Amino acid sequence: MTDDVGLCLTCRWVRAVTNRRGSTFFRCRRADTDPRFRRYPALPMLQCVGYEERPPDHDPERGERGEAG
Ligand code: SF4
Repeated sequence: MTDDVGLCLTCRWVRAVTNRRGSTFFRCRRADTDPRFRRYPALPMLQCVGYEERPPDHDPERGERGEAG
């Protein structure tokens, strides 16, 4: 899976969203405030100016602040 997703997988700005069919989408939360980013970036992401490595305890299922939705 790592190779399929690229940088987004380890980025603090990503939020993994799994739909009812079990498909996982990676939403870029930078896109909420910065038009340079796509909400659902084309993967694998090999190079991104917005990439920031996430802290070890970050849970992409819950988002940066643990918010829902
Ligand atoms: S900032 Fe870049 S690497 Fe991070 S989630 Fe968004 S598109 Fe992916």
